[in-house]
Amino acid sequence: AKREGGGRVRLFRREMGEDVAARQRDKAALTAALADDELVVHYQPIIDVATARTTHAEALVRWQHPGRGLLGPDRFIGLAEETGLIVPLGAHVLRTACAQAVRWQGQGHRLGVAVNVSPGQLSGNGFPREVDELLSATGLEPGRLTVEVTESVWADENAMRLLMAVRELGVRVALDDFGTGYSSLSYLRRYPFDLVKIDRSFTDGLGEDDRTGGVVRCIIDLAGALGARTVAEGVETPQQARWLRDAGCDFAQGYLFGRPEPVENWHPDLLTIT
Ligand code: C2E
Ligand code: CA
Ligand code: CA
Ligand code: CA
Repeated sequence: AKREGGGRVRLFRREMGEDVAARQRDKAALTAALADDELVVHYQPIIDVATARTTHAEALVRWQHPGRGLLGPDRFIGLAEETGLIVPLGAHVLRTACAQAVRWQGQGHRLGVAVNVSPGQLSGNGFPREVDELLSATGLEPGRLTVEVTESVWADENAMRLLMAVRELGVRVALDDFGTGYSSLSYLRRYPFDLVKIDRSFTDGLGEDDRTGGVVRCIIDLAGALGARTVAEGVETPQQARWLRDAGCDFAQGYLFGRPEPVENWHPDLLTIT
């Protein structure tokens, strides 16, 4: 039994060692991908429910891998967050999305961009300056940029200080995946924000059961009371869209309106000339 145990320990250690080596390889590959411009940004339309017009585009990163094809963020964002690569990766997405928003601005489209920001990007002190310099350098109207953060950021005082400094610049703040995290109503009172994104898991249940509808109505009311507007994520059916419109949800995003796509694949109807 002793030998068996020792063998197990050795096996475990070898697997751990391989894990560390594999992680280092993955980290090196992701670093190289950033340098080689293999991280591309796709855009998904966000629709104003009342006017049925596209008002924003959410920037969603993908890895255009030379051998493995197009990889979704679930395949590498976790690694980026654990290794600190999320800081340069996030900066790359932010720069790319702002450049696109400026292009739209120049073409006369009234279209903003929404960019996901991980807690790791709000851990140093550099984020507000990074955003400020980017806005000055590009000439992007601050109101055309939205940063999306999840509820976990709300519990981190330093991160919230940085986020509020960014909001002071005129950039809008969205609370992403609302209802899935460590939702605490007490911290919602503490900081202002502009948008609440109702998580797809709620949208999925609309029309199927009354309890989900009740919760979504409540989120819309809560957002309204706090001076924020609402975006429903993952809208896939016309029934869901109608339900949301009738409930007073402001914006909708989902496959019903458009999937995340490279900007050159966007259907012209998605772009509204002002
Ligand atoms: P998220 O911010 O909640 O983004 C929405 C996700 O839902 C996207 O997945 C989008 O493709 C998907 N989605 C949109 N509409 C529908 C729909 O109607 N049905 C279904 N089934 N799915 C829909 P994606 O692109 O795979 O991104 C996953 C997550 O990765 C994002 O969730 C976000 O948390 C993270 N992410 C993506 N890009 C970035 C980035 O640049 N930086 C950071 N930090 N995170 C990112
Ligand atoms: Ca998001
Ligand atoms: Ca989300
Ligand atoms: Ca999500």
